[in-house]
Amino acid sequence: MRILIAEDDQRIAEPLSTTLQHAGFLVDVEADGEVAWHRGDTENFDTIILDLGLPNLDGLSILKRWRGSDRRSPVLVLTARGRWEEKVEAIEAGADDYVVKPFQMEEVLARVRAIVRRANGLASSRIAFKGFILDSRLLQVSRAGVPIELTPLELRLLMHLLHHRNQVVSQLQLTDHLYDQAVDRDPNAVEQLVARLRKRLGVDVIETRRGFGYVITEDTA
Ligand code: CA
Repeated sequence: MRILIAEDDQRIAEPLSTTLQHAGFLVDVEADGEVAWHRGDTENFDTIILDLGLPNLDGLSILKRWRGSDRRSPVLVLTARGRWEEKVEAIEAGADDYVVKPFQMEEVLARVRAIVRRANGLASSRIAFKGFILDSRLLQVSRAGVPIELTPLELRLLMHLLHHRNQVVSQLQLTDHLYDQAVDRDPNAVEQLVARLRKRLGVDVIETRRGFGYVITEDTA
């Protein structure tokens, strides 16, 4: 899961970024409004955390531009205390939720998780698939109560496929959601990760659609 934090206040952006990374998210931070707008317009994020007071282009204008050009990434707005008009305006402009500053990091984390779940049509943080349970809060996969050791990357790949269940996800899309920098991106890395996951979970959990990508299908039983 990839998150963009658009916030110019380092004292907020840094601890927020750390909290989300510890929770298994891949996090990008942008302090400039114009740059944040551009990234949200051209890249895919599972959630965007948007401060309303940004330099060069304010958060509300950014949100209106995204929604005006049909960019649908979920947006969580950060707003100052007492500015209720801002909250109303943000929600009406297409924000999915808001948090009032100052906030606890745990509150933002809980809201981001809820947004990601809703966006993917999931009712809880525990996802059942093929005899396994993925707990996206504990960052753990288990089978019949027995935890299965996965590396952070393996877990991230699995979570992405599960959040897009019954959809074929391309290698490019997976690379985008797994790795921070273009420099880490090895075209074979995703293939190798899938192979490792199959070793741990069984060969039939992740299906290959040759030429298109990978998919985990819904349990039919
Ligand atoms: Ca600000």
